[in-house]
Amino acid sequence: MKFATDKMLGRLAKWLRVIGQDVAYGPHLSGYGLIRAARREGRLILTRDRALSRKNPPHYLLIESDQFREQLKQVVRACHLDPFKEAFTRCVECNRLLEPATKAVVRDKVPPYVFSTQERFSLCPTCRRIFWPATHQQRMVEELKGLGFGTR
Ligand SMILES: [Zn+2]
Repeated sequence: MKFATDKMLGRLAKWLRVIGQDVAYGPHLSGYGLIRAARREGRLILTRDRALSRKNPPHYLLIESDQFREQLKQVVRACHLDPFKEAFTRCVECNRLLEPATKAVVRDKVPPYVFSTQERFSLCPTCRRIFWPATHQQRMVEELKGLGFGTR
């Protein structure tokens, strides 16, 4: 499943990427730009814009709430997503799938403490950010659990 979110939904876009979903998002994505991108790439549009329906859009989901937690719940429910299945596999900034990185590759790029205490790293091929399982991921997992999503 692939999504395109309108520019009002940045926080939702970020959280969908946290749970591993492919999300197109950017300041250019609203109105007809959003519709074109969605059609070209076969994406489901997520929007708060009720007027979009008059622009002959492809499939779209009208997001009901202003709150990103409610928005995320709505999308997970409507699209039958498993929030934990692919969590932390995608760069939140670039939307690219992360690649595994060896310790040799990350040696000079992460703090020494992180290097000595972590074994598994991944790398974004676009922005070259390095990710590792750590407290911020744990906080995100707690956030997802707080939304009523359970691990399997
Ligand atoms: Zn990136």
